[in-house]
Amino acid sequence: KEYADISLKDIDQVAKSSFPLCMRHLFDKLKEDHHLKHGGRMQLGLFLKGVGINLDDALAFWRSEFSKKVGLEKFEKQYAYNIRHNYGKEGKRTDYTPYSCQKIISSTPGAGDHHGCPYRNFSEENLRAALSRMGVNSWAMEDVMDKVKNRHYQLACTLTFEALHGMTCDAGINHPNQYFSDSQKILKP
Ligand code: SF4
Repeated sequence: KEYADISLKDIDQVAKSSFPLCMRHLFDKLKEDHHLKHGGRMQLGLFLKGVGINLDDALAFWRSEFSKKVGLEKFEKQYAYNIRHNYGKEGKRTDYTPYSCQKIISSTPGAGDHHGCPYRNFSEENLRAALSRMGVNSWAMEDVMDKVKNRHYQLACTLTFEALHGMTCDAGINHPNQYFSDSQKILKP
């Protein structure tokens, strides 16, 4: 099994301990706004699928947030289909795979979007604030910001991982689900 499976009851806790910043940001925004635009729903939804959230749990998760904003009926009508679609249960029944860093970094989020890679898309001020909320200390922060300035976003993410886990990550981060499973391996060996 490639990714460590988790269930819905653990999700708040593992979001804090093991989600990379791109997913942590989407997760926090979803909880805050009870809504995400399409790009964010795809990026986070497929990541959660990769993390091991099954379809029923995924529907329960998105329903519990979206129903606070748009109501249950609208959720079932407008959003549930797409979630089933991501799991290959609708349309062409393709089983969609979670996005890689490369794909996320090259996406172009518009106004009101929260998907994409924060190392690339955030202002310096917002990135520093987000990293310090994650628990990155001030000396590691400067190394991370240095990589960002040179547009080495995945290296910046790798240094963040290393700072938060107190371990080196020799392979480097190239997939959000790899960040997650490497983190879980360290935290729950
Ligand atoms: Fe997410 Fe990859 Fe960017 Fe890290 S480098 S925040 S895992 S897209």
